Amino acid sequence: MEEHKENIHGKDMNAKLSKGDDDDKVKPSSTICPKEEAPPQASNSDFSHPVYKEIALANGHINRMSKEELRNKLSQLKLDTRGVKDVMKKRLKSHYKKQKLTQSVTDCGPGDIFYDYICVVDFEATCEEDNPPDFLHEIIEFPMVLISTHTLEIVGTFQEYVKPKLYPTLSDFCVKLTGITQDKVDAAKPFPVVLKQVVKWLEERELGTKYKYTFLTDGSWDMSKFLNIQCRVSHIRYPQFARKWINIRKSYGNFYKVPRTQTKLSTMLDKLGLQYEGRPHSGLDDSRNIARVALRMLQDGCQLRVNEHMHAGQLLPVPSCAPMEGAPPPRWPGTRK
Ligand code: AMP
Ligand code: MG
Repeated sequence: MEEHKENIHGKDMNAKLSKGDDDDKVKPSSTICPKEEAPPQASNSDFSHPVYKEIALANGHINRMSKEELRNKLSQLKLDTRGVKDVMKKRLKSHYKKQKLTQSVTDCGPGDIFYDYICVVDFEATCEEDNPPDFLHEIIEFPMVLISTHTLEIVGTFQEYVKPKLYPTLSDFCVKLTGITQDKVDAAKPFPVVLKQVVKWLEERELGTKYKYTFLTDGSWDMSKFLNIQCRVSHIRYPQFARKWINIRKSYGNFYKVPRTQTKLSTMLDKLGLQYEGRPHSGLDDSRNIARVALRMLQDGCQLRVNEHMHAGQLLPVPSCAPMEGAPPPRWPGTRK
């Protein structure tokens, strides 16, 4: 089943979008988080600080280590020893990078956290067995799983089913795939009402006001296809607060240096030594499992950052050199003709 999502989640687009988004480069951290990580006097393009040479040397050494050596070293350092060789390598490199940068900063801040919260979204939508490319998917489940980047845990969940407007009767295929039954969507509210609840939920958590946050999805399609189509079907504008997001597939591929073919959710979990928990294609369970991958990446030292956005109805990449910014405060986007 997940193969399909790999297809529908625009792998060509992902490949195209991946250029220049490389979390593993030994780059002056001021490009990421000016205050907290940058060694003294390091400017955006300054690689001359000796700490970068030290990091490069450590990386070279780690590249030559066997799986067993990596596991032993991680264990000595009391770090997680799970996952495949590339994952362990990345974890060890991140550890040394962080350690060396921290040592070199005279007035060390709280770490490389930019977003206070990351909100994982994984929509479920109406579907047929072989959806034609122009199929008008309607969202039938709106889940959110909120991650605190400070405590590295899931701190809240939201789930609402949504009543489809154009085709209110679910196909047997859709029910079987998602586990969402006809009675659930019959009893659900229409999308605009659910979106208002979403805005309220985000507002209550002071996201975009007191706290910096962004959205995270598994692939490009949740926002660029499902939300985009749904807004057109419901005659509402595309919400400003969901215009930018982290596509975890891209982040994972860039961080652990694996091709996009190895960034399906099941593969990411597997390579990290984790197992899927719950029911695949349940939006909330998918979101939780995506959140587990994101948490492990954060623990491994990845600075997850926005890498895709919607502009004038088009899906576009956000280059890694773009300044970090959080999503704006959630607002009801208003109707359109
Ligand atoms: P997922 O997040 O992988 O559960 O997929 C999100 C949505 O994509 C589903 O709710 C379906 O609308 C659609 N989808 C996923 N897999 C398939 C499939 N094998 N065939 C048709 N549609 C699918
Ligand atoms: Mg899903």
